[in-house]
Amino acid sequence: MEWRTVLENLEAQLARLQAAGINYLNIEPDPELARMLNDAAHEAGAVTPDEPAAGHGAAFAQSTEVSAGVATQDAIDAPVTPGTQPRSEPQSKAAAAGQIHPSEFKTLDSLQEYFRDCRNCGLCAGRSRVVFGEGHAHPIILFVGEGPGQEEDRQGLPFVGRAGTLLTQGIRALGLAREDIYIANIVKCRPPGNRNPQPEEMAACLPILQRQIELLDPKVIVTLGNVPLKTFNPRARGITQARGHPFGYREWQILPTFHPAYLLRNPNGLDPWWSDLKQALVLANTAATRGAE
Ligand code: SF4
Repeated sequence: MEWRTVLENLEAQLARLQAAGINYLNIEPDPELARMLNDAAHEAGAVTPDEPAAGHGAAFAQSTEVSAGVATQDAIDAPVTPGTQPRSEPQSKAAAAGQIHPSEFKTLDSLQEYFRDCRNCGLCAGRSRVVFGEGHAHPIILFVGEGPGQEEDRQGLPFVGRAGTLLTQGIRALGLAREDIYIANIVKCRPPGNRNPQPEEMAACLPILQRQIELLDPKVIVTLGNVPLKTFNPRARGITQARGHPFGYREWQILPTFHPAYLLRNPNGLDPWWSDLKQALVLANTAATRGAE
């Protein structure tokens, strides 16, 4: 069968990569592969004709562990439960264990409370606090950064260090207060030494952010820096070129811009950053107007 041959070849290729020491891949949905997976799933009776096959139409970057199988949306959608899931355990096993998926939480408060002591990735070992996020329950703008820094880790709040001060100034210059917006991060625990979060850490944490977005339903999402940009849009060029160019994520628009920490080192970026913030407000107001019609 056509799809079985493709899967077998893919499995062999993944095994070769793993043997060569490559443990993670960015998987992007390929329309032809998705069609064949859909056919295979229908053949197995797993989905109805109107449902996409696993891995098709994924919104987040598919940073997924290489295994002797096909990387699917399961890695993103699988339940993540604090304290109970061994770090090396595939998340589909967590699903089988009946752990609660973030999508099952109906309120932001209950979601935050459940993951208050999350231990679903290795970042729990070095953190002081889970930095869940902060702000308005239905914000006009949702800012998404990369992960907590030292001061955020200490206080349990996002963007409270020097970069946070700059972000707050930008928000105020728009005529808004921090209480009007919401700030979250791709990972909710501080990576040691402020390094970039690893793919498996982002994959473990993303379902929480995804549910946050659904519950917050912001008018626009502004990503800060390269990591959140590439998380939502793996094919995007670097932030210098991608900033200021909105793209769609499900029913929301995302506007990428610089991370405030970058601006502290590169003040030349302040003008385009300010231009992006103003554009974000226009996009948010347009979305609000459309929603009111
Ligand atoms: S970074 Fe996210 S997944 Fe990892 S322990 Fe913290 S809250 Fe849990």
